[in-house]
Amino acid sequence: MPVPASHNESTELKALDLAHHLPAQADYQLLEDLGGSRIITHAEGCVITDIDGKSLLDGMAGLWCVNVGYGRTELAEVAYQQMLELPYYNTFFKTATEPAIRLAAKIADKMSEGNPDLKHVFFNSSGSEANDTVLRLVRHYWTLKGEPERNVIISRRNAYHGSTVAGMSLGGMSFMHTQGGPLVPGIEHVRQPYMFNEGFGEDPIAFADACVKDIEDRILSVGPDKIAAFIGEPVQGAGGVIIPPETYWPKVEALCRKYGILLICDEVICGFGRLGQWFGHQHYGVKPDIIAMAKGLSSGYLPISAVGVSGAIVEVLKTGGDFVHGYTYSGHPTAAAVALRNIEIMEREDLIARTREVTGPYLAQALQRLAAHPLVGEVRSLGLIGAVEIVAEKGTNTRFKGTEGTAGPLVRDICIKNGLMVRGIRDSIVMCPPLIISEAEIDQLVSTIEASLNEAEPQLR
Ligand code: PLP
Repeated sequence: MPVPASHNESTELKALDLAHHLPAQADYQLLEDLGGSRIITHAEGCVITDIDGKSLLDGMAGLWCVNVGYGRTELAEVAYQQMLELPYYNTFFKTATEPAIRLAAKIADKMSEGNPDLKHVFFNSSGSEANDTVLRLVRHYWTLKGEPERNVIISRRNAYHGSTVAGMSLGGMSFMHTQGGPLVPGIEHVRQPYMFNEGFGEDPIAFADACVKDIEDRILSVGPDKIAAFIGEPVQGAGGVIIPPETYWPKVEALCRKYGILLICDEVICGFGRLGQWFGHQHYGVKPDIIAMAKGLSSGYLPISAVGVSGAIVEVLKTGGDFVHGYTYSGHPTAAAVALRNIEIMEREDLIARTREVTGPYLAQALQRLAAHPLVGEVRSLGLIGAVEIVAEKGTNTRFKGTEGTAGPLVRDICIKNGLMVRGIRDSIVMCPPLIISEAEIDQLVSTIEASLNEAEPQLR
């Protein structure tokens, strides 16, 4: 068991945090008012522990990423060995390293299931960087094909594709667009397949058709010969775990083929087992031309991301001389060695099938217990990602007046107090636990949400 820090050490670190550290996605004034960040010091399996000795079941796998769970000694050992052998070398100017090459081959093997042409891999360090690569690559591709005016990318409102300028421009979160603009031009945002909010009570197939029609309408209004690609997360994660109707993706794919548009799946959250397949698009049976991946690729043990690219696209890139794009840490050998072993762990422990056949269905069933709760409008999950919608009136999607859009964070804070790390997104609680989560831990996750909803009810009403 980790030893909690002394009171003095905890107080000192919180003071240093406030004085010098700017954490990600934070309201700095609020953080100051709260007396600093929660400092996480230790983790094992699915449990994280903070500096004051409080343990929490990590219902978010860190930030949707620690798929194999915490405390994997063999990943530390692989990193150690690789650092002794070759800690770093780049992949610029006709060089490569063994871990980068072997990892690319391993990813190609996983991508090729049902999509044999998806077999090339470009490395980056984060999901945002992966999407920057996607944007440049797609536009470069169409220029080489002699259609430079095909540079518009269609994305969805409320999509999350990262925090870099390209990532947040591709993303569809309006509150992000208001900071740090102007945005990258040539990105169009269309309707998201968020049934609970935007198609409540509708037939799922008709709702999916309406969302796909919105894409087609936009293609026609911009001009089909100007559209380079469509990008989407198989299941929107940060937008609130938005699981589209099953017919949505095959129809999006058909639309892309109809107009000769590239199909890009952002697999940063859905990749590496989250939906019970190696990649989320494999669940929906579609064949993207390009995919972005990160997070579960290394289970967050080291930063690494990748872009999977079809052979057909690479053949076109070959006609263009240098692709003048890359990062100092593209294919970082230590990160690549850790990612490779991380994938081997998933294979060895059969985590993908376990998610699909055991823990995913178990979570879905456990969440059903919450469906009857007076504050719950909907529970939904696919594999090991899920959401609970909080409503004011049972049987509707009406939110609490006055606190609209904040019920999720309110319940999240109570969950944390009760020993569970989840995320509150607007009026929902979302979860994305490590793929090693046990059935007992799933029960604990669900019953803590239930107890926290009960506790929140008087504050909400
Ligand atoms: N794409 C998706 C779907 C994501 O969920 C995220 C991060 O949550 C990103 C891209 C950005 O990844 P990163 O934070 O590693 O830059």
